[in-house]
Amino acid sequence: MTVERRDWFRTTIEQLHGELGPDTTGATADYIPELANVDPDRFAIAGETIDGQHLDVGDAQHRFTIQSISKLLMYGLALETHGRDRVLERVGVAPTGDSFNAITLDEHGNRAPNPMVNAGAIAITDLVEGDGVDDRVETVRRMYERYLGHRPEPDRAVWASERATGHRNRAIAYLMLSRGIIDDRVEETLDLYFAQCAVLVSTDDLATIGATLANHGVHPRTGEQVVSAEVCRDMLTIALTCGMYDYAGEWAFTVGIPAKSGVGGGILGILPGVGGIATFSPRVDEYGNSVRGVRVFEELSRRFSLHLFDPERPWTRTT
Ligand code: GLU
Repeated sequence: MTVERRDWFRTTIEQLHGELGPDTTGATADYIPELANVDPDRFAIAGETIDGQHLDVGDAQHRFTIQSISKLLMYGLALETHGRDRVLERVGVAPTGDSFNAITLDEHGNRAPNPMVNAGAIAITDLVEGDGVDDRVETVRRMYERYLGHRPEPDRAVWASERATGHRNRAIAYLMLSRGIIDDRVEETLDLYFAQCAVLVSTDDLATIGATLANHGVHPRTGEQVVSAEVCRDMLTIALTCGMYDYAGEWAFTVGIPAKSGVGGGILGILPGVGGIATFSPRVDEYGNSVRGVRVFEELSRRFSLHLFDPERPWTRTT
Protein backbone atom coordinates (compact mmCIF):
# COMPACT_ATOMS: atom_id res chain seq x y z
CA MET A 1 0.00 0.00 0.00
CA THR A 2 1.44 3.39 -0.93
CA VAL A 3 1.79 6.07 1.74
CA GLU A 4 -0.96 8.12 0.03
CA ARG A 5 -3.37 5.19 -0.01
CA ARG A 6 -2.54 4.35 3.57
CA ASP A 7 -3.23 7.92 4.69
CA TRP A 8 -6.46 7.99 2.70
CA PHE A 9 -7.56 4.71 4.30
CA ARG A 10 -6.67 5.94 7.77
CA THR A 11 -8.55 9.22 7.31
CA THR A 12 -11.55 7.37 5.91
CA ILE A 13 -11.89 4.86 8.74
CA GLU A 14 -11.48 7.66 11.31
CA GLN A 15 -14.15 9.66 9.54
CA LEU A 16 -16.54 6.69 9.27
CA HIS A 17 -15.97 5.84 12.92
CA GLY A 18 -16.94 9.40 13.87
CA GLU A 19 -19.92 9.60 11.53
CA LEU A 20 -21.43 6.23 12.40
CA GLY A 21 -20.63 6.38 16.11
CA PRO A 22 -24.00 7.93 17.09
CA ASP A 23 -26.01 5.33 15.11
CA THR A 24 -27.77 3.12 17.67
CA THR A 25 -29.91 1.19 15.18
CA GLY A 26 -30.30 -2.54 15.88
CA ALA A 27 -29.98 -4.48 19.12
CA THR A 28 -27.53 -6.87 20.74
CA ALA A 29 -28.42 -10.51 20.14
CA ASP A 30 -30.12 -11.76 23.27
CA TYR A 31 -31.14 -15.30 22.33
CA ILE A 32 -27.86 -16.24 23.98
CA PRO A 33 -28.73 -14.50 27.29
CA GLU A 34 -25.17 -13.59 28.17
CA LEU A 35 -24.69 -11.69 24.87
CA ALA A 36 -27.31 -9.17 25.99
CA ASN A 37 -24.79 -7.99 28.61
CA VAL A 38 -22.13 -6.75 26.19
CA ASP A 39 -21.57 -3.01 25.91
CA PRO A 40 -23.57 -2.08 22.78
CA ASP A 41 -21.63 1.12 22.13
CA ARG A 42 -18.26 -0.48 21.43
CA PHE A 43 -17.15 0.26 17.91
CA ALA A 44 -13.96 -0.58 16.03
CA ILE A 45 -12.62 -0.75 12.50
CA ALA A 46 -9.31 -2.39 11.55
CA GLY A 47 -7.45 -3.22 8.37
CA GLU A 48 -4.30 -5.18 7.61
CA THR A 49 -2.51 -5.67 4.31
CA ILE A 50 -0.96 -8.93 3.17
CA ASP A 51 2.47 -7.46 3.95
CA GLY A 52 1.47 -6.76 7.55
CA GLN A 53 0.67 -3.02 7.51
CA HIS A 54 -2.00 -2.47 10.13
CA LEU A 55 -4.42 0.38 10.82
CA ASP A 56 -7.26 0.63 13.28
CA VAL A 57 -9.63 3.04 15.01
CA GLY A 58 -11.84 2.78 18.11
CA ASP A 59 -12.02 -0.23 20.45
CA ALA A 60 -9.86 -2.38 18.19
CA GLN A 61 -8.23 -4.30 21.06
CA HIS A 62 -11.47 -4.94 22.89
CA ARG A 63 -12.29 -8.66 22.82
CA PHE A 64 -15.65 -10.18 22.03
CA THR A 65 -16.91 -13.65 21.13
CA ILE A 66 -16.17 -14.72 17.59
CA GLN A 67 -19.50 -16.62 17.22
CA SER A 68 -20.28 -17.57 13.63
CA ILE A 69 -17.03 -16.23 12.22
CA SER A 70 -15.57 -19.42 13.71
CA LYS A 71 -17.58 -21.38 11.15
CA LEU A 72 -15.33 -20.20 8.35
CA LEU A 73 -12.13 -21.23 10.14
CA MET A 74 -13.62 -24.56 11.17
CA TYR A 75 -14.65 -25.22 7.58
CA GLY A 76 -11.02 -24.74 6.56
CA LEU A 77 -9.91 -27.16 9.26
CA ALA A 78 -12.39 -29.80 8.07
CA LEU A 79 -11.34 -29.43 4.44
CA GLU A 80 -7.70 -29.71 5.38
CA THR A 81 -8.21 -32.74 7.56
CA HIS A 82 -10.70 -34.70 5.48
CA GLY A 83 -10.56 -33.32 1.94
CA ARG A 84 -13.33 -31.84 -0.14
CA ASP A 85 -15.19 -35.06 -1.04
CA ARG A 86 -15.71 -36.26 2.51
CA VAL A 87 -16.79 -32.81 3.66
CA LEU A 88 -19.16 -32.40 0.70
CA GLU A 89 -20.85 -35.68 1.59
CA ARG A 90 -22.02 -34.09 4.84
CA VAL A 91 -22.25 -30.40 4.04
CA GLY A 92 -23.16 -28.76 0.72
CA VAL A 93 -22.21 -25.34 -0.61
CA ALA A 94 -25.56 -23.83 -1.57
CA PRO A 95 -26.82 -20.59 0.01
CA THR A 96 -30.21 -21.21 1.61
CA GLY A 97 -31.99 -17.88 2.00
CA ASP A 98 -33.14 -19.28 5.37
CA SER A 99 -32.02 -17.93 8.72
CA PHE A 100 -28.76 -19.26 10.14
CA ASN A 101 -30.53 -21.35 12.78
CA ALA A 102 -33.19 -22.85 10.48
CA ILE A 103 -34.01 -26.47 11.19
CA THR A 104 -33.62 -27.52 7.56
CA LEU A 105 -31.36 -29.88 5.70
CA ASP A 106 -30.50 -30.48 2.07
CA GLU A 107 -33.11 -33.23 1.70
CA HIS A 108 -31.96 -34.23 -1.73
CA GLY A 109 -28.35 -34.81 -0.68
CA ASN A 110 -29.14 -35.84 2.93
CA ARG A 111 -26.62 -33.34 4.23
CA ALA A 112 -26.50 -29.91 5.79
CA PRO A 113 -27.06 -27.09 3.28
CA ASN A 114 -23.78 -25.19 3.75
CA PRO A 115 -21.11 -24.72 6.44
CA MET A 116 -22.20 -21.19 7.41
CA VAL A 117 -25.66 -22.10 8.73
CA ASN A 118 -25.76 -23.77 12.12
CA ALA A 119 -26.64 -27.21 10.75
CA GLY A 120 -23.58 -27.20 8.50
CA ALA A 121 -21.36 -25.73 11.17
CA ILE A 122 -22.35 -28.39 13.70
CA ALA A 123 -21.74 -31.11 11.09
CA ILE A 124 -18.31 -29.58 10.48
CA THR A 125 -17.53 -29.52 14.20
CA ASP A 126 -18.56 -33.16 14.37
CA LEU A 127 -15.72 -33.85 11.92
CA VAL A 128 -13.07 -32.61 14.38
CA GLU A 129 -10.86 -35.56 15.05
CA GLY A 130 -9.45 -36.68 18.35
CA ASP A 131 -9.51 -39.31 21.00
CA GLY A 132 -12.21 -37.99 23.31
CA VAL A 133 -13.30 -34.46 24.05
CA ASP A 134 -9.98 -33.13 25.37
CA ASP A 135 -8.16 -34.19 22.27
CA ARG A 136 -10.79 -32.63 20.03
CA VAL A 137 -10.70 -29.37 22.00
CA GLU A 138 -6.92 -29.37 21.57
CA THR A 139 -7.26 -29.75 17.78
CA VAL A 140 -9.50 -26.68 17.64
CA ARG A 141 -7.20 -24.76 20.01
CA ARG A 142 -4.22 -25.42 17.78
CA MET A 143 -6.10 -24.19 14.75
CA TYR A 144 -6.97 -20.92 16.49
CA GLU A 145 -3.43 -20.56 17.72
CA ARG A 146 -2.08 -20.63 14.16
CA TYR A 147 -4.35 -17.75 13.16
CA LEU A 148 -4.10 -15.71 16.39
CA GLY A 149 -0.50 -16.29 17.37
CA HIS A 150 -1.59 -17.14 20.92
CA ARG A 151 -3.73 -19.68 22.78
CA PRO A 152 -7.41 -18.91 22.28
CA GLU A 153 -9.51 -18.21 25.35
CA PRO A 154 -13.25 -18.72 25.47
CA ASP A 155 -15.62 -16.34 27.25
CA ARG A 156 -16.74 -18.89 29.81
CA ALA A 157 -19.95 -17.06 30.70
CA VAL A 158 -21.08 -16.93 27.06
CA TRP A 159 -20.07 -20.55 26.57
CA ALA A 160 -22.07 -21.65 29.62
CA SER A 161 -25.01 -19.48 28.59
CA GLU A 162 -25.22 -21.10 25.18
CA ARG A 163 -24.73 -24.57 26.61
CA ALA A 164 -27.67 -23.93 28.93
CA THR A 165 -30.01 -22.43 26.33
CA GLY A 166 -28.91 -23.67 22.89
CA HIS A 167 -31.81 -26.07 22.46
CA ARG A 168 -32.48 -25.09 18.88
CA ASN A 169 -28.95 -26.14 17.98
CA ARG A 170 -29.60 -29.34 19.92
CA ALA A 171 -32.70 -29.94 17.78
CA ILE A 172 -30.69 -29.41 14.60
CA ALA A 173 -27.96 -31.75 15.81
CA TYR A 174 -30.34 -34.53 16.81
CA LEU A 175 -32.15 -34.21 13.48
CA MET A 176 -28.80 -34.72 11.77
CA LEU A 177 -28.05 -37.68 14.04
CA SER A 178 -31.37 -39.25 13.07
CA ARG A 179 -30.39 -38.92 9.40
CA GLY A 180 -26.93 -40.39 9.95
CA ILE A 181 -25.19 -37.12 9.02
CA ILE A 182 -23.29 -36.80 12.30
CA ASP A 183 -21.98 -39.25 14.88
CA ASP A 184 -23.73 -40.08 18.13
CA ARG A 185 -21.44 -38.06 20.42
CA VAL A 186 -23.92 -35.21 19.98
CA GLU A 187 -23.61 -33.43 23.34
CA GLU A 188 -19.83 -33.49 23.13
CA THR A 189 -19.90 -32.03 19.62
CA LEU A 190 -22.40 -29.35 20.65
CA ASP A 191 -20.21 -28.37 23.56
CA LEU A 192 -17.23 -28.08 21.24
CA TYR A 193 -19.34 -26.00 18.85
CA PHE A 194 -20.44 -23.66 21.66
CA ALA A 195 -16.81 -23.37 22.79
CA GLN A 196 -15.53 -22.51 19.29
CA CYS A 197 -18.21 -19.76 19.11
CA ALA A 198 -17.26 -18.37 22.55
CA VAL A 199 -13.59 -17.79 21.65
CA LEU A 200 -12.54 -14.20 22.34
CA VAL A 201 -11.03 -12.14 19.53
CA SER A 202 -10.39 -8.47 18.93
CA THR A 203 -11.10 -6.49 15.78
CA ASP A 204 -7.33 -6.35 15.27
CA ASP A 205 -7.21 -10.17 15.42
CA LEU A 206 -9.95 -10.42 12.80
CA ALA A 207 -8.12 -8.03 10.46
CA THR A 208 -5.02 -10.25 10.73
CA ILE A 209 -7.09 -13.37 10.02
CA GLY A 210 -8.56 -11.56 7.01
CA ALA A 211 -5.09 -10.68 5.76
CA THR A 212 -4.01 -14.31 6.18
CA LEU A 213 -6.93 -15.55 4.09
CA ALA A 214 -6.32 -12.75 1.56
CA ASN A 215 -2.73 -13.96 1.33
CA HIS A 216 -3.63 -17.53 0.24
CA GLY A 217 -3.35 -18.77 3.81
CA VAL A 218 0.05 -17.27 4.68
CA HIS A 219 0.10 -15.25 7.90
CA PRO A 220 1.22 -11.71 6.98
CA ARG A 221 3.60 -11.37 9.89
CA THR A 222 4.80 -14.84 10.87
CA GLY A 223 4.98 -16.11 7.28
CA GLU A 224 3.44 -19.38 8.45
CA GLN A 225 1.16 -21.26 6.04
CA VAL A 226 -1.84 -21.32 8.38
CA VAL A 227 -4.10 -23.05 5.88
CA SER A 228 -3.34 -24.35 2.39
CA ALA A 229 -3.99 -22.12 -0.62
CA GLU A 230 -6.51 -24.60 -2.11
CA VAL A 231 -8.51 -24.73 1.11
CA CYS A 232 -8.28 -20.97 1.45
CA ARG A 233 -9.86 -20.63 -1.99
CA ASP A 234 -12.82 -22.76 -0.90
CA MET A 235 -13.19 -20.75 2.31
CA LEU A 236 -13.34 -17.50 0.36
CA THR A 237 -15.93 -18.87 -2.05
CA ILE A 238 -18.18 -19.87 0.83
CA ALA A 239 -17.61 -16.50 2.53
CA LEU A 240 -18.76 -14.72 -0.61
CA THR A 241 -21.84 -16.87 -1.22
CA CYS A 242 -22.99 -17.70 2.33
CA GLY A 243 -21.03 -15.56 4.81
CA MET A 244 -23.53 -12.83 5.63
CA TYR A 245 -26.56 -14.91 6.68
CA ASP A 246 -29.55 -14.53 4.37
CA TYR A 247 -28.26 -11.07 3.42
CA ALA A 248 -25.44 -12.76 1.47
CA GLY A 249 -26.91 -12.06 -1.98
CA GLU A 250 -27.43 -8.35 -1.32
CA TRP A 251 -24.00 -8.18 0.28
CA ALA A 252 -22.28 -9.78 -2.73
CA PHE A 253 -24.16 -7.39 -5.00
CA THR A 254 -23.46 -4.15 -3.15
CA VAL A 255 -20.27 -4.77 -1.15
CA GLY A 256 -18.70 -7.62 -3.12
CA ILE A 257 -16.17 -8.60 -0.43
CA PRO A 258 -15.98 -12.22 0.83
CA ALA A 259 -16.93 -11.86 4.49
CA LYS A 260 -18.29 -13.62 7.55
CA SER A 261 -20.20 -12.08 10.39
CA GLY A 262 -21.19 -13.27 13.84
CA VAL A 263 -24.02 -12.37 16.19
CA GLY A 264 -21.41 -11.15 18.67
CA GLY A 265 -21.09 -8.09 16.39
CA GLY A 266 -17.92 -8.85 14.43
CA ILE A 267 -17.49 -8.86 10.66
CA LEU A 268 -14.40 -10.30 8.98
CA GLY A 269 -13.78 -9.19 5.37
CA ILE A 270 -11.22 -10.60 2.96
CA LEU A 271 -9.83 -8.65 0.00
CA PRO A 272 -8.01 -11.36 -1.97
CA GLY A 273 -4.42 -10.38 -2.71
CA VAL A 274 -4.80 -7.13 -0.77
CA GLY A 275 -5.63 -7.66 2.92
CA GLY A 276 -8.27 -8.00 5.61
CA ILE A 277 -10.83 -5.55 6.98
CA ALA A 278 -12.71 -6.11 10.23
CA THR A 279 -15.35 -4.29 12.21
CA PHE A 280 -16.94 -4.71 15.61
CA SER A 281 -20.19 -3.18 16.80
CA PRO A 282 -22.60 -5.37 18.79
CA ARG A 283 -25.98 -4.03 17.65
CA VAL A 284 -27.18 -6.38 14.92
CA ASP A 285 -29.99 -6.18 12.37
CA GLU A 286 -32.77 -8.66 11.63
CA TYR A 287 -30.34 -10.91 9.74
CA GLY A 288 -27.79 -11.03 12.56
CA ASN A 289 -25.29 -8.65 10.90
CA SER A 290 -23.76 -5.74 12.78
CA VAL A 291 -25.57 -2.57 11.66
CA ARG A 292 -22.63 -0.18 11.85
CA GLY A 293 -20.31 -2.87 10.51
CA VAL A 294 -22.38 -3.31 7.35
CA ARG A 295 -22.41 0.46 6.85
CA VAL A 296 -18.63 0.64 7.19
CA PHE A 297 -18.12 -2.10 4.60
CA GLU A 298 -20.59 -0.50 2.20
CA GLU A 299 -18.73 2.79 2.41
CA LEU A 300 -15.24 1.32 2.18
CA SER A 301 -16.23 -0.82 -0.79
CA ARG A 302 -17.66 2.21 -2.57
CA ARG A 303 -14.91 4.67 -1.76
CA PHE A 304 -11.97 2.33 -2.45
CA SER A 305 -13.54 0.29 -5.29
CA LEU A 306 -13.15 -2.90 -3.26
CA HIS A 307 -15.93 -4.93 -4.91
CA LEU A 308 -14.35 -8.12 -6.31
CA PHE A 309 -15.56 -7.30 -9.80
CA ASP A 310 -14.78 -3.61 -9.78
CA PRO A 311 -12.40 -2.78 -12.63
CA GLU A 312 -10.61 -0.29 -10.36
CA ARG A 313 -10.12 -2.81 -7.57
CA PRO A 314 -6.63 -2.58 -6.02
CA TRP A 315 -4.89 -5.90 -6.52
CA THR A 316 -1.22 -5.47 -5.77
CA ARG A 317 0.56 -4.45 -2.59
CA THR A 318 1.89 -1.32 -4.34
CA THR A 319 -1.48 0.18 -5.30
N1 GLU B 1 -23.26 -19.62 18.67
C1 GLU B 1 -24.25 -19.02 17.83
C2 GLU B 1 -25.35 -20.02 17.52
O1 GLU B 1 -25.07 -21.12 17.19
C3 GLU B 1 -23.60 -18.51 16.60
C4 GLU B 1 -24.58 -17.76 15.78
C5 GLU B 1 -24.02 -16.70 14.92
O2 GLU B 1 -23.08 -15.99 15.23
O3 GLU B 1 -24.60 -16.59 13.83
O4 GLU B 1 -26.50 -19.72 17.57
